[in-house]
Amino acid sequence: MKMTRRTLLVGAGAGVIGVLLASCTPEPAPTPTPDRSPSPTPTGGGPAPVAFARSAWSTDPSALGAASFTPVGVQSASRDALATSIRDRLFFAGEATDADAPGTMAGALRSGTRAAEELLAAAGAGERVAIVGAGLAGAAAASRLASTGLVLTVFESRDRIGGRVQSIVDDELWPVPAQLGGWLIGADDTDLSEQLNALDIRTGVLETPMWISAEGEVAAPSTQPIADAITAAQALPADISLAQALADAGADPAEPGLAALLAYVAASAGPDADQASSWFPPMLPPDARTAVLGDLGAVLAQLVDGVKVSLSSAVSRVAYDDAGVSLGIATGESLSFDRVIITVPLGVLQSDGIEFAPKLPFAQRGAIAELGMGFIETVWLRFDEPLIDTEATIWHAVGGDQKIRTWFNLAPVTGDAIMVGIVGGADAAEFAALDDAAARAAAMAALATFMQPAAA
Ligand SMILES: Cc1cc2nc3c(=O)[nH]c(=O)nc-3n(C[C@H](O)[C@H](O)[C@H](O)COP(=O)(O)OP(=O)(O)OC[C@H]3O[C@@H](n4cnc5c(N)ncnc54)[C@H](O)[C@@H]3O)c2cc1C
Repeated sequence: MKMTRRTLLVGAGAGVIGVLLASCTPEPAPTPTPDRSPSPTPTGGGPAPVAFARSAWSTDPSALGAASFTPVGVQSASRDALATSIRDRLFFAGEATDADAPGTMAGALRSGTRAAEELLAAAGAGERVAIVGAGLAGAAAASRLASTGLVLTVFESRDRIGGRVQSIVDDELWPVPAQLGGWLIGADDTDLSEQLNALDIRTGVLETPMWISAEGEVAAPSTQPIADAITAAQALPADISLAQALADAGADPAEPGLAALLAYVAASAGPDADQASSWFPPMLPPDARTAVLGDLGAVLAQLVDGVKVSLSSAVSRVAYDDAGVSLGIATGESLSFDRVIITVPLGVLQSDGIEFAPKLPFAQRGAIAELGMGFIETVWLRFDEPLIDTEATIWHAVGGDQKIRTWFNLAPVTGDAIMVGIVGGADAAEFAALDDAAARAAAMAALATFMQPAAA
């Protein structure tokens, strides 16, 4: 096994400073990296990208998916069960525990603050507390607990903080950071918006759609059939899938316009229509999306400012009783705490990546087993010139067999010829399995749809 040094970040009031410890730990999970050598001739014709970056969250062992969803037949109350603390020693946070906005950055942030409040209500002065995971939920919990007198340590399996938020900052390649995870915020995400404003992080609004088929531009498909199908399904005695609800309502999920719309839903929420519940359906993407165009790492860094963060420190075992919690770190160390907040993704909990002793109660295990982990992947491409002359910022491919059907064109808002593809569901899992050359070729082939003479 290749060995690397463990990094311990120790906050020192004015900022987070890195202190390298010399102990050996397994190499952290591979994280998506920008490709500095795009191939000169893309498959599918058209101009070659001058920068390329892609994600592979579906196969990343620290994520094993992108966003939790509620599968057919599952109650959203499962999220409350997952969020329930155990013996006032173990607390749970992370987007999957937020029933209001699961699968989102806002939900993750809120869950971290909620778990921290629950822990504070149980904790005594000066107790030793650990947080497992330094994504938005873990960072929000750390921020709430930082100045409370508790002795706090965050354990993170990767060699960076942020989890499913990752801004690639590279001024040579990307005029705006390439965002490989969460980066679009909703109108209700006031906490995140306030933090972005306070840190002076740039945002831009993407709201002008363009729907393109092989014949050229077509009318936007109506979202009404989906809304009607959900309403009808919610009157049934038992839950059915969104795909079944559409079929029962006389709509054909394979019809090109509806299929393109459902691809956008999957790329925004994670599940395909045949997996998603009609009773607790994925949210339809709003017309206007606010995109973060700056470094989201600054938000994370501010939240954990002053907190001890141990990077490349995967927690492999959590042993708990009425007296406290012992954490087994993958390096072999075992450390004792009074209370612990677990924020790892649902995909990690489902994979048995962490052994709990004793086993978690049925309520938690049931929730972990029945909630779904959806797949979303993203690909960023920068060109010397915009691919086509348009003010449209959200492009949809109607028909055809390309996997990546939804694209954000950042040129109108940033002035840079950057295209961002998003893909969800089973197509995302397939995309994650591609190597970089094949992923780039798939992206270029998908973009060729929009460069046909009829489209332009
Ligand atoms: C491609 C993609 C696009 C998305 N788009 C959006 C969007 O536009 N808008 C939006 O609101 N949301 C979006 N999301 C969802 C959003 O990013 C997540 O909901 C949110 O970031 C999850 O935060 P979290 O803290 O719950 O989990 P995470 O960020 O996953 O944090 C959990 C942390 O635990 C760590 N960990 C895992 N296992 C261990 C272990 N054994 N020991 C120690 N640490 C461990 C992980 O490395 C990670 O850092 C997107 C997600 C993806 C992947």
